[in-house]
Amino acid sequence: MTSSWPNGRSATVAVTVDLDAETMWTSKDAANARRPVVMSQAKYEIDFGVDYFLEAFADLGIAATFFVPGWVAERNPSLVRKIAASGHEIASHGYDHTRISAHPPEFEKWTITRSKHILEELTGERVLGYRAPYFELTEQTLDLLRDLEMSYSSNLMNSVHPYRHPDSGIVELPVSWMWDDGPYYLFATEPPNYRQMFPPAVVRDAWYAEFQALAELGGLMNLVLHPQLSARPSRLVALKSLLEQMKSEGAWLAPCREVADTVPA
Ligand SMILES: [Zn+2]
Repeated sequence: MTSSWPNGRSATVAVTVDLDAETMWTSKDAANARRPVVMSQAKYEIDFGVDYFLEAFADLGIAATFFVPGWVAERNPSLVRKIAASGHEIASHGYDHTRISAHPPEFEKWTITRSKHILEELTGERVLGYRAPYFELTEQTLDLLRDLEMSYSSNLMNSVHPYRHPDSGIVELPVSWMWDDGPYYLFATEPPNYRQMFPPAVVRDAWYAEFQALAELGGLMNLVLHPQLSARPSRLVALKSLLEQMKSEGAWLAPCREVADTVPA
């Protein structure tokens, strides 16, 4: 199996940004809201990290997809508008980033519907995609997305090619923990994330090797980036040089909505 990319490109990279901000921490432990140093990492993301990403993407001439929790959008409306006005796609990352499995089934419909409404009100553009917090897709997610007239999910890890789910018609843009900066960079003073961080050069090498191998398969690399992790200075330098190299080697770097459009009906 292979995917067919526009203009005969062999490789495609969806640059995606999960704008978790405070919810990265409060969704793991509500008590984190009262830990100023933990929360200050989210503040770095909002005050600096997003802008560093926007500058890097503008320099590279690429558009990304920002998955934004509704809770974060409500508290940072001008930032979300600025991201959209810079030509990037805004998609849903649920409401408060809590685990879907921690709630009754009705919560999932509420969280997707509410975040979609908040984001559409802010940007005036339709929200087409959904990435669940912790990629936690359930048996009802795809039907919910179809009922809300959304077009893609970016949660499952069962392929390196985008595909269409047969019953709902929703496109899947698969992810992998390997392409997520969290397993390499996320650190906390408490278990389970008290652990050695990976140096940026190692992460860049791992992602470039994966990119080359995926290009051989004609696959999609779905990079999952968090500004509070990957917009730290030396990590940003490594990321930017990687994206530059992918681009110079002819890869198509595109937002999710454009990649989803390449999947046949
Ligand atoms: Zn997230």
